[in-house]
Amino acid sequence: MTKQKQIDIGLNIEAPKEVCVDKHCPFHGGYKVHGRTLEGDVTRDVTNKTANIEFTRILPLTKFERFEKRISRIKAHVPPCILVKKGNLVKIAEGRKISKTKNFVVVEVKK
Ligand SMILES: [Zn+2]
Repeated sequence: MTKQKQIDIGLNIEAPKEVCVDKHCPFHGGYKVHGRTLEGDVTRDVTNKTANIEFTRILPLTKFERFEKRISRIKAHVPPCILVKKGNLVKIAEGRKISKTKNFVVVEVKK
């Protein structure tokens, strides 16, 4: 009998129950994540394994002693083992570049 291998990508995130064969999957494909992890909302339906993620960040303006709100949009890869829908709050992790505009991958669905 073999013990089931614990998949640890170094972010304290449980691996999804489904198994996929995507080579850009951080859990099953050997894709290594490193760098930043961000959280944001999915603003579009997932097409072609790509999700559009949007989040706001607050920037201080010292001259005017106020804060500025900025919206960032990032494209992230969605592996087939993670089910992502429009409106979800997801966690994304940075990794090696997947395509021209993608160097993030969805690792967790929060809501
Ligand atoms: Zn997978």
